[in-house]
Amino acid sequence: MMFLATHRDMVADEQLPGVLDTLHKRLREILLPQFREQLIYCDTERDDFVFTLNAAKPEKEDRECAEIIRECLSRGGEGGREVKVPLRWYALYQKLLEVANELGKKVLPRELCQQVAESMEMDDESCGEALNFFDGLNMLFYFPDILPQLVFMEPQMLLDKVSELVEETYHMRQGKKAVPGEKLRFRDHGEVTEKFLGEFESHYEPPLFTPKELVTLLKGLLVFAEMSKDVYFMPCLLQVVAWKVVEEHRVSGGKALALHFPDSGPLMGTFCSTVAYLLSPENSHPCPWRVVQNEAGAPECLHRNVIEFTVSDYAGAVSLIDHFTHFELHIHTAEDHEAELWKLAHDAVFAGLKKAGKTIGYTNNTPVPAIVCPAHPHPAKPHPATVKKGVWTCSISSKNFGKVAEVSVPWMSVCTSHSAESATSSPSSSSSAVPSTSQPPLSVSSTTATTTTNTPGESFLA
Ligand SMILES: [Zn+2]
Repeated sequence: MMFLATHRDMVADEQLPGVLDTLHKRLREILLPQFREQLIYCDTERDDFVFTLNAAKPEKEDRECAEIIRECLSRGGEGGREVKVPLRWYALYQKLLEVANELGKKVLPRELCQQVAESMEMDDESCGEALNFFDGLNMLFYFPDILPQLVFMEPQMLLDKVSELVEETYHMRQGKKAVPGEKLRFRDHGEVTEKFLGEFESHYEPPLFTPKELVTLLKGLLVFAEMSKDVYFMPCLLQVVAWKVVEEHRVSGGKALALHFPDSGPLMGTFCSTVAYLLSPENSHPCPWRVVQNEAGAPECLHRNVIEFTVSDYAGAVSLIDHFTHFELHIHTAEDHEAELWKLAHDAVFAGLKKAGKTIGYTNNTPVPAIVCPAHPHPAKPHPATVKKGVWTCSISSKNFGKVAEVSVPWMSVCTSHSAESATSSPSSSSSAVPSTSQPPLSVSSTTATTTTNTPGESFLA
């Protein structure tokens, strides 16, 4: 994990040390111990990890800093891998930008891109490869599996649509915006209707790109799950609830399946996409998942960090919890159904995680089945303990370990395909204290490199 501060030009030289101290202090406070181990330091003696860079008008030291960053990234493997591509791909990209500009469009038909490519003596296949390449660099967006007919020349426009929905729920909850009756389910349960999407008129480019295409796209990207005709559920709109509420949906006694992400914690979007996968009727997991509802048809427990499901026709419920450092699966049912339900829930959740990772484009975010650490019971925040050869090891302190037989783990014998016995990750060696923040910040778990825009009233390096 690397922190970059890219507005050095906005801080007077003599103030820089003070601003950096404040920034380091605040970041150290909010960084969970798990993530501290992965920090890339710019000054190990001083424990400094914020790389300052004036990217707008780089001077000598900025260029040196950029070179160090480049080296760090290439050591990290994939990030700095050199890829050789034909020069004319860049020419094609430039040409497409020009065409879009001339037409005043942010979206181009794929067919038109092909015509441009042909004029440069590129065949359809190379055109597709070039589009995929630039999509990978986020210079444009192209989704051949979901919306093969369109190329988005301005990636920001798509990101804006999603963030606008998030913003809207935020303002509604803050009371800054009136909530008409038909939008209560949007604010409280993350439900979006096609009519509602139509209100963001300025963002569409009919007839090429309308709310219909947006829905297809967001369903394909596991941002939406279709609940009924023209009604979509968007898990990332939900509100995070306090630990007290989460705790009510956990089963005590270490019976849960913890999903431990040894490399970096769960990356951003993984939980929401997995939920969208589980609730999408078109997915082929073995049985339908639904959100548990009360008699009035309202969800019993539907929050950004804890959701209660029913699985197939089984009596009982499955809670899926996002602790931001790891996930947990808890099953509430009579003992005679337990084994069967564990198998179904386990298989579906792993299928969802796999699909979510693939859809978001993460190559290195596979969880390992683990147990909830028995060494640090309540009131500590739960965290995983990895299991290997019948021994569990706390993921926070390897000094804490014990035999698995000492805790009852109902899923382990049932879920053979992902038995924790096959887990290969080594336990973490940190001796830091148990995390004590009640709501770990979202951004920390997802960051590989951070560049954040200015927030009034805060340090503008942050
Ligand atoms: Zn522990």
